[in-house]
Amino acid sequence: MPTDISAELRKLVTERANHRCEYCLLPEKASLHKHEPDHIVPRQHGGESAEANLALSCLRCNRYKGPNIGSYDPETGELTPFFNPRQQSWSEHFKFDGAEILALTAVARVTLKILRINDDSRIREREQLQKAGLFD
Ligand SMILES: [Zn+2]
Repeated sequence: MPTDISAELRKLVTERANHRCEYCLLPEKASLHKHEPDHIVPRQHGGESAEANLALSCLRCNRYKGPNIGSYDPETGELTPFFNPRQQSWSEHFKFDGAEILALTAVARVTLKILRINDDSRIREREQLQKAGLFD
């Protein structure tokens, strides 16, 4: 993928996130693939490759998010933007129940749904990592 993100900016994004996906919290060290900078507002929607619009994302969260900016809340049907790690607090929107990530808000519901954060295979992976002490 062509990128206009410098090595320096990539490093800042990675360290600011403490080497974890800012959506599903997967630690980079527990991932087969390197995490990548995600455009919170995708370039197609005018998002810039700037600190304030970048979040560290695991490969799966980033691929499923794609060029989307939100979805329809499965509970209310309202068009709702995704969780924004630069403007919102993870723990105000999500919480863990074992290896499953629960939604506390509409923002979290659409993020979990479209990024497929609770797919069976991903829950099983988190369970294994938690047992191994690699996901706390
Ligand atoms: Zn993720």
